[in-house]
Amino acid sequence: MAEQLITKLSVKGCNLSSVGRGVTAITNYDIAASLAYGNLPKLTYYYARAKYCEDVLASQNLLVLLNETVREKLCDLNLKFNNEIIAGISKLMLIEAVFGNQCKTCDGLGYAIEENQIEVCSRCSSTGINKLSQRKRAEIVGVSLSKWHRDYDKYIPEIYQSIQNLQRDVIKHVYYQVNGED
Ligand SMILES: [Zn+2]
Repeated sequence: MAEQLITKLSVKGCNLSSVGRGVTAITNYDIAASLAYGNLPKLTYYYARAKYCEDVLASQNLLVLLNETVREKLCDLNLKFNNEIIAGISKLMLIEAVFGNQCKTCDGLGYAIEENQIEVCSRCSSTGINKLSQRKRAEIVGVSLSKWHRDYDKYIPEIYQSIQNLQRDVIKHVYYQVNGED
């Protein structure tokens, strides 16, 4: 059951409200309802509201918290980035790591139906996610491509690590709420 739910909460299955994209037992409404219960940390709460409930205000709150998170992570790594860069990286994090960037070829499904055959999407290797180009990432952060490559790109995986467990925390929370345990 937990495994099943994880599949349904993956970015691929994130279009839960749309009809005809496979069977989904857990809807955005269920997620929204379950978030009202329990004591989720603010970061996890806003993450889930922003990602699954199309909550614009939550996205704004999340961005503020991501700023703090990035700042703390840079401190741990002994790095000093200026405020504009921190704001840029937080924005990149929101776009790329929270919302994800849906593959346009397969609409985030990971596969395509061609002549009644289900084909694995070759563009995104069936992940459903279209990774942003380095040029686009540099643009979002607000630096030149060469500066991006030289000073920032190498730290991104470590910075992203600070929010990696949020998805898992949301899944666990919804799972327990749906099953009436806590
Ligand atoms: Zn694709």
